[in-house]
Amino acid sequence: MTRQRLVAGNWKMNPTSEEAAVELARAVVACAADYGGRVQVAVFPPTVWLQAVADELKGGQVEVGAQDCYWEPSGAFTGATSAAMVAGWCQWTLVGHSERRTHFGMTDDDVARSTAAAVETGVRALVCVGEHKDDYLAGKTNQVVGGQVRAALSRLGARSAEIAFAYEPVWAIGTGRTPVPEEVEDELALIREEAGRILGGDSTSSLRVLYGGSVTPDNIASFTTLPTCDGALVGSASLSAQKFAAMVEILAEEVAK
Ligand code: PEP
Repeated sequence: MTRQRLVAGNWKMNPTSEEAAVELARAVVACAADYGGRVQVAVFPPTVWLQAVADELKGGQVEVGAQDCYWEPSGAFTGATSAAMVAGWCQWTLVGHSERRTHFGMTDDDVARSTAAAVETGVRALVCVGEHKDDYLAGKTNQVVGGQVRAALSRLGARSAEIAFAYEPVWAIGTGRTPVPEEVEDELALIREEAGRILGGDSTSSLRVLYGGSVTPDNIASFTTLPTCDGALVGSASLSAQKFAAMVEILAEEVAK
């Protein structure tokens, strides 16, 4: 089965103005237009700029996603934004990014609830999983990542769903360090296998699994050419339209081969 490649840009808590966010979105559109839809491109701006960026991207090839969503549709949840609210603007939402887990106390069960809420609302969930450095050094990566995948899908039952995963070792995010490609290849295969077992049907072959963690134009090909890799979730380097464009181009050229 051919899975469409995906390059996703997580802008984190950037840029700090609506004007700059719209400008970055416009620059991404300009670069994505050159690749004729060979690669799916999505950007994940901060919640406060979602509407403006979604308006800018409307009708085009670049998709938009939220960086998180809360599972309750509405109510007394100060500061939260529900999956139902972002559904008006977004095709995607990240769920369980390690920064949400680490800085905002998101648990595996929270990840499961948000994943289920997103899918029920018609928003595709890009679920992030990955081990901390200590677990990596202790050889516990498979155990940790497998557990996170099973937990994330635990509230979906046997329903197959529009879900993708990003394997993002926590120690590789924003550090300039990355695992070796062989490690990434094995971990992506494990994620596909674990998720396929739960989602059933032909999910094992159709599920998209990305790599994320210090991806740049210089190293992206070492991950995206792996047979188990369907693209990349890019943080810091996605804030440069030039670098982001270069990465989309590298994937588009791979697809054209
Ligand atoms: C991320 O935020 O998902 C990420 C991978 O960040 P960076 O590319 O900066 O490591």
